[in-house]
Amino acid sequence: MSDKIDIKSMNYEELEQFVVTGLNDKKFRARQIYDWLHVKLARSFDEMSNLSRALREKLADQCELTALTVVKCYVSEIDGTRKYLLRLPDGNIIESVLMKYKHGNSVCVSSQVGCRMGCRFCASTLDGLARNMTASEVLDEIYVIQRDINERISNVVIMGSGEPLDNYDNAVRFIKMLSDANGLNISQRNITLSTCGIVPRIYDLAGEDLQITLAISLHAVTDERRRELMPIANKYSIEEILKACRAYYGHNNRRLTFEYSLVKGVNDSEEDARALGRLLRGINAHINLIPVNPIKERDFRQSEANAVVNFKNKLEKYGENVTIRREMGRDIQAACGQLRKNYIDALESEE
Ligand code: SAH
Repeated sequence: MSDKIDIKSMNYEELEQFVVTGLNDKKFRARQIYDWLHVKLARSFDEMSNLSRALREKLADQCELTALTVVKCYVSEIDGTRKYLLRLPDGNIIESVLMKYKHGNSVCVSSQVGCRMGCRFCASTLDGLARNMTASEVLDEIYVIQRDINERISNVVIMGSGEPLDNYDNAVRFIKMLSDANGLNISQRNITLSTCGIVPRIYDLAGEDLQITLAISLHAVTDERRRELMPIANKYSIEEILKACRAYYGHNNRRLTFEYSLVKGVNDSEEDARALGRLLRGINAHINLIPVNPIKERDFRQSEANAVVNFKNKLEKYGENVTIRREMGRDIQAACGQLRKNYIDALESEE
């Protein structure tokens, strides 16, 4: 990273402050600059045509304007899903996905380059964490895609590579700026943050009073089984996670989502379904079942289609609200960090 100011990570108040004290200019300039950055989605200071040349030069001198570039975009012929490989200013590669639904366009963003959580079935974590992403970089995942398709993005899920609560400050800054009326103004109700369950940060998040949906990657009904799949389970028990979830609900009354990736013979039995139903009793929950997406580095297999349906039916007997995640972009496979990993591995084998 350069030592210039990351102007696109500044929230509106900070930008105002910077314009007045750092640039010695009028406060209203902040509105114009913020609008160029976060509504018109400018990729250079030169585009900011209602600013004087002198001011644009001053900005370019002192600030860096974070703009990601598209390395590759795979488009599904089945459902229009677009998977993007994007390059960050320092050359790191990340991936983002656009999904087209009847209710609008949804983007799944990455929050870190790589990940250090070590979930056994996930490709994002195989090479560990390279670094956290800045708020401007996460914002620009959405901006690049919105510019590319020339349509409004209405929903955002922080479910790409990385653990957002392991990059807490930037993740919260990102959410606040994304939902700011001065920016893209995406409703917090249309933003979902997915976490493997870093309990103290769930309490912190509850205290932010955001209206976002919290999704918990549960994936198992006992701590013992969860530890086999997710190292974070060595640190926090399911009981501690659910307690934090109740606190989160107490703050903002938002229904919680629980993600449960079904792995054949590991966590997909009828007894697992019953235990999950019992576990979540009394919690206002939506359960999202995800047939695991096998990665070549591990031998986890997807549950049979009838096991998935059985699991769902059993759970529904407990009055739970259950959906099976629809697989988007089936013809452009490679989700959850596999796209990035394949790309980087291919580059390395060429060297
Ligand atoms: N770190 C966050 C968000 C990123 S992963 C979290 O853990 O929630 C988004 C979701 O996809 C998580 O529920 C994760 O466990 C799941 N996931 C990752 N790899 C997967 C795979 N190969 N198959 C199915 N689900 C997977």
